[in-house]
Amino acid sequence: MEVLRWLIPLLAVVAIFVMGARAVLSLSRSEESLICTTCGAQTDTPHTKTRGSVVIEVVLWFALIIPGLLYSLWRQSTRQKVCPACGNATLIVANTPDGRKLAEQFSGRKR
Ligand SMILES: [Zn+2]
Repeated sequence: MEVLRWLIPLLAVVAIFVMGARAVLSLSRSEESLICTTCGAQTDTPHTKTRGSVVIEVVLWFALIIPGLLYSLWRQSTRQKVCPACGNATLIVANTPDGRKLAEQFSGRKR
């Protein structure tokens, strides 16, 4: 089991790297109020949707380390904010001229 001697520390390093990248990305996430252009729902806590699949990620990791690493980074960097109400990735910042106009439109529609 000579292979395990370097494989386990390598996997540990990579796991720490991926966790770090994830932490950095979540720190840079803004806490602005967002409005959905599809349904008009407003939220401060959008859901996130990660592209790609966990299965492919795991297969790549087991087959080859580098593509697995790149795939993990791609998935983390392409995470999208999605509307908690309708699930569309059509959220814009509410505190902008467009966002305010949209909020007015949607609140006017309800009345
Ligand atoms: Zn929506």
